[in-house]
Amino acid sequence: IRSTTIPNIDGSLNMEENDEDDVVDLAANSLLNKLIRQSLVESSHRVEVLQKDPSSPLYSVKTFEELRLKEELLKGIYAMGFNRPSKIQEMALPMMLAHPPQNLIAQSQSGTGKTAAFVLAMLSRVNALELFPQCLCLAPTYELALQTGRVVERMGKFCVDVEVMYAIRGNRIPRGTEVTKQIVIGTPGTVLDWCFKRKLIDLTKIRVFVLDEADVMIDTQGFSDQSIRIQRALPSECQMLLFSATFEDSVWQFAERIIPDPNVIKLRKEELTLNNIRQYYVLCENRKDKYQALCNIYGGITIGQAIIFCQTRRNAKWLTVEMMQDGHQVSLLSGELTVEQRASIIQRFRDGKEKVLITTNVCARGIDVKQVTIVVNFDLPVNQSEEPDYETYLHRIGRTGRFGKKGLAFNMIEVDMLPLLMKIQDHFNSNIKQLNPEDMDEIE
Ligand code: ADP
Repeated sequence: IRSTTIPNIDGSLNMEENDEDDVVDLAANSLLNKLIRQSLVESSHRVEVLQKDPSSPLYSVKTFEELRLKEELLKGIYAMGFNRPSKIQEMALPMMLAHPPQNLIAQSQSGTGKTAAFVLAMLSRVNALELFPQCLCLAPTYELALQTGRVVERMGKFCVDVEVMYAIRGNRIPRGTEVTKQIVIGTPGTVLDWCFKRKLIDLTKIRVFVLDEADVMIDTQGFSDQSIRIQRALPSECQMLLFSATFEDSVWQFAERIIPDPNVIKLRKEELTLNNIRQYYVLCENRKDKYQALCNIYGGITIGQAIIFCQTRRNAKWLTVEMMQDGHQVSLLSGELTVEQRASIIQRFRDGKEKVLITTNVCARGIDVKQVTIVVNFDLPVNQSEEPDYETYLHRIGRTGRFGKKGLAFNMIEVDMLPLLMKIQDHFNSNIKQLNPEDMDEIE
């Protein structure tokens, strides 16, 4: 089930009270990914490029030096610990930095280096001596705008006199103020207000326009139209760049409306597979029984780290309390927590400070915690029509074939759920073996 909460006008997120915990909040997930991301996401796919002019030569770079960047910008990049361009940057950066500027639509999963690429483009095109907004970046929420701003600040650390300003609700600008900062990052509503009502930004002077997280953007009521109104007022020579982690038809249609004559770059996501995963199920009578089976397995497995999935928040909470009372150290990652709290729990888990994480569907999306070797479905993922939710099953358990390690998955199954499990087995054409929890030797 894919639905979203709509950010409040100030860009903050409604965390809906929802016990099913199935509300996928794209903006919150995206922010969480940024908060916990430590390095580039790898991909074994090739970058696909569609040039607006197929006859023009296609450049790619293997080093940042080849881009002939300003000295201070290169220093900023190295200070961030970047040694060489990421896969998508190899192709995107020469296009983004070309003269005359070229427009670009780029899609690749989160963590592949898109933000770093457009921040670099903005910083390289900005003129520090001109004291007015020259680069404009639209983001779906206040928090995401701040994250991008931080990257500008880090990468632009040695670009003295280049400054960032946030066009977000709550950032009150007194009447008559002149905006002298060169880079403005903000949410569409506030940017629109600053441009047309308050006349703080002169759109005709913008050289680089970035639309970040387009998929999250179009998911928010009004943001597409507002973005298009802003884009319409830009000069024709302004460079227009659009980024998205996913590319459904709706994103594509929006991208084509807003970016004229674009080059297109895509990097396909690594496919998830169940090939390296040994899957088991334990047949149980009821919830108590499932709990007992879990405890038995628990004792039997002393390796690695585990994530335990429950279908509802209530169940997750119940399980956490039970396990704690039985002396197991577990932590609960739930949708009720703020994104920052979730990030900190995931971080502790990553650092190995927590061994077992109990969570619900929402939290499973888009989070890759590589060292997880054991996944337990305390509840089988089902959708609202009580059918198996195959996609969620794959997300919970699957690994990317090339980079993934071997893993173990356990399904705690109440008898009436067995047909659903069998459907899952058929769907993935894989083998889910029954396990007697008293006899853990079977899994060695
Ligand atoms: P995206 O916008 O696609 O989610 P980011 O630009 O945020 O990706 O990059 C993901 C992570 O990888 C960030 O921690 C970023 O600092 C880092 N990163 C980006 N480009 C490079 C690079 N060329 N070399 C090393 N790390 C990089």
